[in-house]
Formats: sequence, C-alpha cells, structure tokens
Amino acid sequence: HNEIETPDLSLLNKAQFDACTHNEGPAVVYAGAGSGKTRVICCRIAWLILNQGVPPSSILAVTFTNKAAKEMKERIEKYIGAQKAKNIIVSTFHAFCARFLRIYSHEAGYNPGFSIYDDNDQKSLLKDILKQLNVPDKLLSVNTVKSKIDKIKNQGLTPEEYLQDIKNNQDYSLKEQKYQLRQFGEHYDPELIQKVYAMYQRLMKQQNAMDFNDLLLVMFKLLENSPHVLESLQNRFRYFLIDEFQDTNPIQFKLVSLLSSKTKNLFIVGDDDQSIYSWRGAEPSFILNFHKEHENTKVYKLEENYRSSNTIISAATSVIKNNYKRADKSLYTKKTNGIKIKFKSCEDAFSESKYIANEIYSAIQNEEKFSDFCILYRTNAQSRSLEDELRRRMMPYIIYGSVRFYERAEIKILLAYLKLIINTTDEASFQKVINTPRRGFGDKALQNLKDLSIQRKETLLKTLNEVVFGGIENDITRSISGVKEFMMSYQKWRSNLDSHNKPSQILAEIISDIKFEAYLKTTHPEDFDERWLNVIELKNAIVEFEHIQIDDEFNFENKIQTGIEKLSKFIEQAMLTVEPTVVNVQQGNANAITLMTIHSAKGLEFPKVIIAGLEEGVLPHQNSLDSPEAIEEERRLMYVAITRAKEKLILTNCKRNRFKDFLPAQESRFISEIPFEVIDYADNQNKNIKKEFGKINTIEQKFVDKPRIFKGDDLLKQEMNSTQNDGVTWRKGQRVKHKVFGDGIIREIEKSSQGYRLKIKFEKSSIGEKTLIHTYVQPA
Ligand code: ATP
Ligand code: MG
Repeated sequence: HNEIETPDLSLLNKAQFDACTHNEGPAVVYAGAGSGKTRVICCRIAWLILNQGVPPSSILAVTFTNKAAKEMKERIEKYIGAQKAKNIIVSTFHAFCARFLRIYSHEAGYNPGFSIYDDNDQKSLLKDILKQLNVPDKLLSVNTVKSKIDKIKNQGLTPEEYLQDIKNNQDYSLKEQKYQLRQFGEHYDPELIQKVYAMYQRLMKQQNAMDFNDLLLVMFKLLENSPHVLESLQNRFRYFLIDEFQDTNPIQFKLVSLLSSKTKNLFIVGDDDQSIYSWRGAEPSFILNFHKEHENTKVYKLEENYRSSNTIISAATSVIKNNYKRADKSLYTKKTNGIKIKFKSCEDAFSESKYIANEIYSAIQNEEKFSDFCILYRTNAQSRSLEDELRRRMMPYIIYGSVRFYERAEIKILLAYLKLIINTTDEASFQKVINTPRRGFGDKALQNLKDLSIQRKETLLKTLNEVVFGGIENDITRSISGVKEFMMSYQKWRSNLDSHNKPSQILAEIISDIKFEAYLKTTHPEDFDERWLNVIELKNAIVEFEHIQIDDEFNFENKIQTGIEKLSKFIEQAMLTVEPTVVNVQQGNANAITLMTIHSAKGLEFPKVIIAGLEEGVLPHQNSLDSPEAIEEERRLMYVAITRAKEKLILTNCKRNRFKDFLPAQESRFISEIPFEVIDYADNQNKNIKKEFGKINTIEQKFVDKPRIFKGDDLLKQEMNSTQNDGVTWRKGQRVKHKVFGDGIIREIEKSSQGYRLKIKFEKSSIGEKTLIHTYVQPA
C-alpha cells in the first residue's frame, strides 16, 4: 500500500478544492495556463472514487493526446493505486471511439475487422475518385477536397446532411467559399465537394474502412441511431471529465454531450487562450459558451499559476492580451521574477541550432540536466537543422511526431499485409502489398485490375482471385504468374490466423514467406540494419500486446477474442499512437532533451524552454499573415509555447529565407509584444554587434519609415498606425518628449488598463528604450 499517495486535498488552493469537489451536474473550470486544471481533473477522479464511492469503470476521462492520457492515468494511479485505477478509461476521443466501434461494429454497419485509413490511404482513394469523376486537378485538388471533407466531418455532417446544409444555407457556403478563396486562393464548388464526399463514404464503407474522422462521426451516428447502444454506454459511464476542452471540435462536443445527457455529470476544463486547433474545427468560443448550452452549469475559475516564474507569466500575459477575441481572465503567480528571458537573433538556421546546442551544453556543465530542456518549434520541418546539430554533438534527445513508428516504410508494408488479412476489402492495403516485394505486377497491371474490378463490382482481391484461379481471360492474365504464390500464401495466412489465434505467428509467417529480409537487404543496403531492427520491434510489440490482452479490462462484454479481433486491436493502437524517436540516449536513461512542435506540447511543462524560429512567416505562420483570425491563433500558439516554461525561457530566430520571395525573414511581431524590460539581449552583443542590432533595428524601420501593414489585419493596422487617447493621437514613429529622459521616438503602442503603453526609443543612448504609460510623455 505504500505506493498509494492519497490525494491530499489540502494541497489544493481554495478555488481548486471547490472545483475538485464539485458535486453533480455540469461544470466548467475556466482558467489560464499552469493554474492546475489538469491537477484538478486528476484529484477529482480520485475524490469521486475514494470519497464518493463512485465505481472506477463508470468514469470516462478524455484528453488530447495519448501522451497526456498516459500521464494522467499515471497520476491517478499514484493517488488511488494501480488496481483501482485500472478500470477508469483515460483516453483520447479517437481511441475511445475506436474501442467501442470494435464492440458495436455490426450495429454501426461495419465488420469488426474494419481498417483504419491514414491520410495517405485517404488521399489515394480520393485521387481515384476524382479520376473516375473526371475532375481535373486544377478544378479541385486532392488536398483541397480532403481538407474540406475533414472539416465537414468535424462538424458532424454526413454527405446527406451536408447536401441539406448546402441547400438550406446558401449564405453559409458562400461565406465558406470566400474564406477558402482567401485562405488557399482557390475556388471550389460545394456541390462537387458533396458529390466526392458521398462517393468517398460509399467506397470507404464497401472497403470496410474508416478514416480518423470517421471514428468520431460513425460513433456519433451510432449513438444517435441505436438507442440500445446509447443506453448501454450511458449505463456504464456516469462521470465525464474533459481536459483541454478548448480544442474539442463540434463532433466531439456533440458526442460527449449525448453520452452525458443522462447523468449530466460533464466536467470540463480548459483555456480559450490555448485554443490552437481551429483547423480541425475547434473554436475558443466553445468553452466560453458551454454554460449556455448546458443548463445549471457551475463555473469555476482558477487564477494562480504554479508553474512559471513571474517574468515568464508577464511575458505570456502581455503577448496574449493583444488578442481581441478573448474573454478576460487574470493569471498571477506568487513566484519571484527569476531570470530574464534570453533572446538571440542568428544569421541562419545553422547558427541558430548551434546557439541552442551551446546554451544547453553550457547549462549541462553547470549540472543542469538534458531532460530539463525542451525545444519548441512551429513546424516539423524546423527540427531538421536542430537534429543535425544535436546528432553531430552526440547530445541525447527525444523527438515527438517526426515519423510515427507505423509510418516507417518497412512497418507500413507489414501492417498492410496484416490489415489485408483481417479485412479482405481493404483496397488501400491491397495496393500497397500486391507488388511489394516485386512480383511483376506493375502499375499497368494494377490499373487494368482496377478497371476490371469496377466493371465486375468486386474488390481488387476477389477480382484477382478470379483471374488467377477462376481462369478469366483478361489483359492482366500475362502478369499473374508472380502473384499466384502470393494469393496462395494469403489464403494460408488467413486460415492460420483463424485456427491458431496468434497474430505474432502470422507476422512471422509473412516475413518468411515473402522473404522480407532479403527484400530489405536489396532495396535498402545502406540502412538495412536499422530497418530490420524496426521489423523485430514490430514483432516484439505484437507479442507484448498478446500478453496484455489476456486480461483486457475494457472487454466488458467478456467475449473470448479471436485472432482477428486481437490483431485488429493491435493495429488500431499502432495507428493511433505517436511513438517518439530516441537519439543518442543510453538504454534506460531518461536524461534527454525534448523536441516537439508547439501543438504537441500542450498541457506539458519543462524547467527550461527554448522557442526557435521566431520570425514572421514561421511564427506567425506564413498562411496566417493575411487573416486577423489566423494571427490570433498564432498568438495563442505563442502563449502556449511561453507558458510551458517553469524557470528559463530562451527565444531565438534567424534570417531564414522566406517561403515566398526568399528574402530574409523579419523578426516575429510576438517578440515585440513581450515587455522590453524582461528580455535579456546580452547574447547579441558579440563581435557582430552592429549586425545584430541592425537586425533588431529592422523592426524600428518597419515602424518608423514604412509601417509594415498586414493585409486584412484591420485591427492591427489601426493599432499600428495611430491611437487616440485624452485628445492626443499617438502614432508609431512619432517624436515625443519626456521630462527626465528627453526626446525619443515611439516604437510600439499597446493598450493597457491605465491607457496606452508606449515603447519609446530615447535619443540618449544611456537611456535607450523604455516602456511608459502615455501620461508621462508629450508630443515633441
Ligand atoms: P495547462 O493550461 O498548461 O494545461 P494546467 O492548468 O493544467 O496547465 P497543471 O499542469 O495542472 O496546470 O499544473 C501546473 C503545475 O502547477 C503542475 O506542476 C502542478 O503540479 C502545479 N500545481 C497545481 N496546483 C498546485 C497547488 N495548489 N500547489 C502547488 N503546485 C500546484
Ligand atoms: Mg493541463
């Protein structure tokens, strides 16, 4: 019992305690970063079980990533012990849906072995559809139609409902079109999208496949249309807790609202300022309007931040207050100022990476740990130069979200074999395996087979089977000698999986039957070893999974699982989990730097955080520059990034070539939104001092000579140009006078509770820049 650390509610502050011990009915905990929202959820779960006698299996906790779910579960285990925590479901929305769709697949209109299609599978199907419908790429590209379909699904609309929506709401689609035009510079026809969407869904169902968004959509429709399924889930789950609620999209919101409609015990926590997934349909307004949609909602606010130094909090709050669309909330800390935020502007990505590696390296000499550090960036592409540098210097790091394990080519091939064994109608997998390793069945033969299968209205596999064994004469007959053996092995694998129930054994059979080792050796002689290790790792993972599955706590209907069911669960888990890649780390040693995108750092914290690439066009991202809403979202990303840090924050940028015109990038506007006095510019004073400050001066030019206007960003435009207060108009670039400091030029204007905060560069170099309230200066 000594492992149990009873949740000590006296460790919570008053506001946290109240939220934690909220009784029944809907509640929202609405609070800034690091104020203990996640802690409240974990304590509440422990409190419900220990103090209120709530059965663990009736609790469903949902969070945003598998990593967060895992950490939450570990925390709860610490509070109440592993045994009691075992039956609580702590999961992402997707994993939750996948799990229950396996159980209720028939009711949902699918077979239990349904495949999950990833983005690439989705795209290749869409490509086929556009081709069949004779839609040229110029009119509608695969990427556009995919993102549009994903959006429609995130709204929870089936093809039929979307059609209705277009009809009912011409305005809506017009607005969408305009938006689309502005965002992507391309036009599309909603009716054409609808047609593609309908065909896509029909084919997906025929192939017994779901994409990631289908997991949510199909689950939701199942609950809506099958009262007995809804009832059985409502009988099981009575308490719902959702972390990071600001990033749920409409379909997720509908799903959990429906599930919780019986008990109304829906407890959500979140922060509108951290809403960073609007591209998936999430909106900051959801959390703000929650109480309007759920009657008698109790609202709790937490205001004390326990994570970060005062310096970091003041940087974060002064950045985020530049957003217009937000609800005001306060966040303070009792912590001391701590150290200043370092800012370093570098020549290029290479020297930026070098600087970062140096900073970490010298900290390590002072007995800081690698694992204290996290490097955050806006886009995955930025990780390359960082990784190169860390590898070169043998510094240990863990990188999240680069290439998922299952996305590695060799793993993908083997998983496709396994998926095809489970689901004979999985056309995406069929196409991946039929000529890998080579069997003389090239693209031409595949195209012929596709045509024939459309003509015969049969799956590719069945059509090929009939050509090979049924003696149908066709163009492809010539190419079939090599695939005969494959077809025979395929049948053997399938019946073996049925009879001996062991997925790991089937995998071994596949690897040896298709001579996979020899294939990898010839195709990838340079890194064969690494790839072969991955294959072994896949085998190990399946074996491990088979052991765990023996007492599957979630199999609440106590069915004995067949080999096929086991294998499909395994694949599902592989597809929904992002495994980190570990480099230069000794086995069993957790001391490594973390690298990740800002998006995936949500909810996490690190003693030391480095935010790289603070340039216009990177953060804020290129695609956001023309839209005020998008800029606000980028600012929320900046807020999330800053608030991950506990003690030390380092900001870097470089003159990276810009996406569009290959000119050097400008400094990110978000740096100038941080109070000048909390930034330490010392590292810029090296031998390049002139150059470095020349760099910073570019902002000045931007404001003084020709104000840089962000197209469409009206609010910002207004703010940048002029500001009226007390009858005096303040303008960037304007000359002002101060009693003591003398003359200077306004570089920045910011609204504040006391009026306007003017960042002024004074002529006397000994005074430099100061931020002052407007009442202290006069126009010169
Ligand atoms: P985010 O918005 O980033 O998700 P959060 O609101 O979920 O943050 P937590 O991660 O729960 O915040 O807490 C932030 C940090 O503060 C954690 O290290 C947590 O252990 C600590 N903390 C929370 N509440 C208290 C408290 N009452 N006393 C001491 N430490 C606390
Ligand atoms: Mg949290």
